[in-house]
Amino acid sequence: MHHRPPPPPHAPHGPRVHHDSLAGRHVFVAPQRSARPDDADLAAGGGDPETWCPFCAGNESRTPPHSLRTPADPALPWRARIVANGYPIVMQHAEAAAAAADRPARGVHDVVIESATHERSILALDAAAWRDVWMLCQRRLADLARRDDLAWATVFKNSGPRAGASLEHLHSQLVALDFVPPVVAAELAAAAAAIDPFGRLIADARSAGRVVAETDGLVALVPPAPRQPFETWILPTTAAAFFHAAAAEHVAAVAELTRWFVDRLGRLAPGADYNWWLHQAPHRGADVSPAWHWHLEILPRLAQFAGFELGTGCHITTLSAVESARRLREA
Ligand SMILES: [Zn+2]
Ligand SMILES: [Zn+2]
Repeated sequence: MHHRPPPPPHAPHGPRVHHDSLAGRHVFVAPQRSARPDDADLAAGGGDPETWCPFCAGNESRTPPHSLRTPADPALPWRARIVANGYPIVMQHAEAAAAAADRPARGVHDVVIESATHERSILALDAAAWRDVWMLCQRRLADLARRDDLAWATVFKNSGPRAGASLEHLHSQLVALDFVPPVVAAELAAAAAAIDPFGRLIADARSAGRVVAETDGLVALVPPAPRQPFETWILPTTAAAFFHAAAAEHVAAVAELTRWFVDRLGRLAPGADYNWWLHQAPHRGADVSPAWHWHLEILPRLAQFAGFELGTGCHITTLSAVESARRLREA
């Protein structure tokens, strides 16, 4: 059963941001997203996914045109493509605000369609195809970083319904904002107050047995306080503020380590949903520590966040950091 409020008759202002300065909270208000279809809606008429899935090859007319695709040669069939999100949380030309606490949500919101066929897991792609997806994301992030109107950008994945995915066809999302979001601002402030915070993070993980994998200048480690069993971060071992400027071998290493992680997670918790998101530095500004490392945070969604988490900002997990790392290594 799918009960959704009907979309508003017209959305006069486009998406907006409500800001609560007491809570330090930003909320994106995007009423048109209530009309966003899920797989059950799209498949209601029956048939194979290729007949109803907007992300399957052959259905390109059901999404906005691509900004990038791989391979770039239009004579060849595409294997991955980036399109504007049809239900964006930010828009390039949102209208001017009525009040300081309510401003237009300006930015870019893309969908990265990661396979031409109806795949559900990144493990359905071969290693080269998955690496090409990360190369494509990097190109898009580099394009967005050159724009004066955007302060910060990320790519993130919601894999499975518990992680918030409404469509199962393999995809990620890419968002660029005109401000630096609070979680990243807090990390930057904490890093600016420390000496080599990421070097310390890696050294502590090595000495505590929380490193789970390593390849070509990147390390995968369980952070000191994982929010769920098997939470893992992937980052370069030397300082680098921007994934969009990372060397090709580092991008390939992200592809390799994410495949490694999803395979291990599947062995430890079959069918587990997960999120990941990229944290890189703001595009401009002097407040970035030279010791900053971009990083990908991967969070399995094995339990729901409930009252304690929402009310305190603290988390409860059933597995220690060191035990999470040991099981990931040995799975
Ligand atoms: Zn599909
Ligand atoms: Zn982070």
